[in-house]
Amino acid sequence: MEIDLKYIRSQFPILTQTVNQKPLIYLDNAATTQKPFPVLEAEDIYYKTINSNVHRGVHTLSQLSTIEMEATRGAVKEFINAKKDYEIIFTKGTTDGINLLASSIEPLVNKGDEIIISTLEHHSNIVPWQFLAERKGLILKVIPIDENGELLLNEFEKLITEKTKIVAINHISNALGVVNSIEHIIKKAHEAQAFVLIDGAQAISHKKIDVQKLNVDFYVFSAHKMYGPTGVGILYGKEKLLERMKPYQGGGEMIKEVTFEKTTYADLPFKFEAGTPNIAGNIVLKKAIEFIQNIGLENIEKYENSILKYITKKLEELDGITTYAKNSTSKTGVVSFNLDINNIHSSDVGFILDKQGIAVRTGHHCAQPLMRHLGVTGTVRASVAIYNTKEEIDLLIEGITLAQKMLQ
Ligand code: PMP
Repeated sequence: MEIDLKYIRSQFPILTQTVNQKPLIYLDNAATTQKPFPVLEAEDIYYKTINSNVHRGVHTLSQLSTIEMEATRGAVKEFINAKKDYEIIFTKGTTDGINLLASSIEPLVNKGDEIIISTLEHHSNIVPWQFLAERKGLILKVIPIDENGELLLNEFEKLITEKTKIVAINHISNALGVVNSIEHIIKKAHEAQAFVLIDGAQAISHKKIDVQKLNVDFYVFSAHKMYGPTGVGILYGKEKLLERMKPYQGGGEMIKEVTFEKTTYADLPFKFEAGTPNIAGNIVLKKAIEFIQNIGLENIEKYENSILKYITKKLEELDGITTYAKNSTSKTGVVSFNLDINNIHSSDVGFILDKQGIAVRTGHHCAQPLMRHLGVTGTVRASVAIYNTKEEIDLLIEGITLAQKMLQ
């Protein structure tokens, strides 16, 4: 199917804006994507018509907002092919989901157990595991990468021992765009009886995810990176594991019965959803999912990969550019590079591009250990979404050429 780019772009009001007197070219989609009309309108309609608290009201509005929010849970279940609605936990985002897991999993780990992460991880898939390791006396191990930014899978296998309890890896690296071989990682981890968390923050809007086919134990993502609202995320977990985990936060909603002596917990998923959630955000996530489904993830992946190939080729044609993970055979969504000019910072390039109306991200991308491994303080990162065009990439390349001239 040919995608109707003109129609897709017309769904994003922000894209018609000018920034610094230039048409906005938004290439910071790995940080957050823009929001289409159906998402924006649904949030407005929610507050204008059924705003009320969920789950506890007998009154009509409360029932309506509960039905709508639970409809999103059902839509997420279908979207990632979970077995049950109650395996879908609403969170504030990927970071919140990983923190929840790294806390709630405590009853399932023992002193001396090992956690394996990778050199490619975002800080949010490092620090919560360090917290857990400190609290429970666990050991953190790190999978190294090769010169293409790809995980060294033979080294991973060497890191696995009978003490390995958790393997937590991102699906796609936010800093390099490398797609990890998560099927292989999940299989090997399960052979060692370890649980696997996949951080899907960068994958969820680019690839079809089937948690049953992957046989993954936990999968987390953020709504705001998939055309949905900020402050909303999903933790998927297998029922039998979620059942064994202890609640992360206490409060309303997550209880069955409270006395001063003892509290019993609500059933899944509510045991992990203390307090009033982001009701409007959770409801409108359904619209973001529908937006993606209407185009089709296979079409999205194919189109975005063609744009990524185009950027990579155009960058190769320029002299004086270092592109990271350039020769990786499996990349999605992101290209990361630097200008080969001494004593400049990636943000110098970002400022010049911004003056041309081009939004890219610069710096360490919340992946300082990876930057240290690459021997840089940061990179310039262009990241694509379904609405980006080849014409925009031509302008990005013009902007980079200008930056080269100005910074030389
Ligand atoms: N993991 C990865 C791979 C990410 O790209 C991000 C966002 N940059 C996160 C985790 C954290 O996501 P959030 O800030 O939405 O919690």
